[in-house]
Amino acid sequence: MSIGQWSEYINTNVKEIPPSGIRKFFDLAAEMEGVISLGVGEPDFVTPWHIREACIYSLHKGSTTYTSNHGLLELRESISQYLGNQGVRYNPQDEILVTVGVSEALDLALRTVISPGDEVLIPTPCYVSYIPCTTLAGGVPVTVATHMEDHFKLTAGKLEAAITPKSKVLLLCFPNNPTGAVMSREELLQIAEVVRRYDLLVISDEIYDRLTYTGEHTCFASLPGMRDRTITLNGFSKAYAMTGWRLGYAAANAEFIAAMTKIHQYTMLCAPITAQISAMEALRNGKSAMEGMVAHYNRRRRLILQGFKEIGLPCFEPGGAFYAFPYIGETGLTAAEFAEELLVEEKVAVIPGDVFGPGGENCVRCSYASSVEDLTEALERMGRFLQRRR
Ligand code: PLP
Repeated sequence: MSIGQWSEYINTNVKEIPPSGIRKFFDLAAEMEGVISLGVGEPDFVTPWHIREACIYSLHKGSTTYTSNHGLLELRESISQYLGNQGVRYNPQDEILVTVGVSEALDLALRTVISPGDEVLIPTPCYVSYIPCTTLAGGVPVTVATHMEDHFKLTAGKLEAAITPKSKVLLLCFPNNPTGAVMSREELLQIAEVVRRYDLLVISDEIYDRLTYTGEHTCFASLPGMRDRTITLNGFSKAYAMTGWRLGYAAANAEFIAAMTKIHQYTMLCAPITAQISAMEALRNGKSAMEGMVAHYNRRRRLILQGFKEIGLPCFEPGGAFYAFPYIGETGLTAAEFAEELLVEEKVAVIPGDVFGPGGENCVRCSYASSVEDLTEALERMGRFLQRRR
């Protein structure tokens, strides 16, 4: 059989999905020397030592087995307490599922609730997985564009305008990747009112909840009436600098969790035990190390915003996560041209905003999870780049 024919065997949903727009830039940057990357959405810190130590100790003790499908009960109890502190109670026995990152939790949640043809409302710009994972689950992604003028916030009006009889799920992410937008409790209450009126289900990805710099994070499920129609996703990658450990969780009413666990038990069995033990340490004793990292991100956030101001790049002030999403429309370049030319000419890697969906066309994503030295140098290079285009 020739190579060409093998593509006949590939599932049509998989064929439809475009390759990640982010990867292309990583690959380009990896081939060059002296590149400062503001491209990756990953903490530049190593996991705090006490968390790594807990892992080492667990290995010494011989904790090398599977755990229950749901995850270690002690970890679920810590997660339940963590969410309880945000105003929403989940029973650790059957309302929390420990997963391999938020990535797995997202995939499970979508596959659990979507029947073929169901529409998933996705405010954009959004995390790159949302649209392809919806398609893979057999759903129809319906994007709801947000814009810089509205501070990249979803409004009740925009949401309502996108709802059809096939709408089933709203996929929320605040603080947002890639814009850094946050939503206040009052703003989320207006969204909740539409959710209730149209009987939607919400998947709320709150992986950046601790990385909130302006005001308090509101857990969507804690809003009146939202607990039983929300699947809350969260994890350890961002707040505790644990991307490589691959640990996250979903919290929802017992019926959703039982259904998600059906898929999880056959596909993943359980999350890695070493990561689970380490996550327990993170939740029990990791608050001050986490807050220290968050303080660093906040200083860098101010630095990059000030830098953009000085070089004349308009940028909405992000209230969370570790991304800035400046507007590059005034250069006359598309986001892809801007990112490519900046990389080639000044060796700074940023991600074109359109890879995150409608609303991101004239912006680029810059991660400020980088050292102050790198950020300062990157801003200088970007300033030179802009000067040449004026
Ligand atoms: N959700 C969002 C919004 C993200 O930005 C990311 C990673 O960048 C993920 C989920 C994936 O997280 P995890 O490492 O827990 O799989």
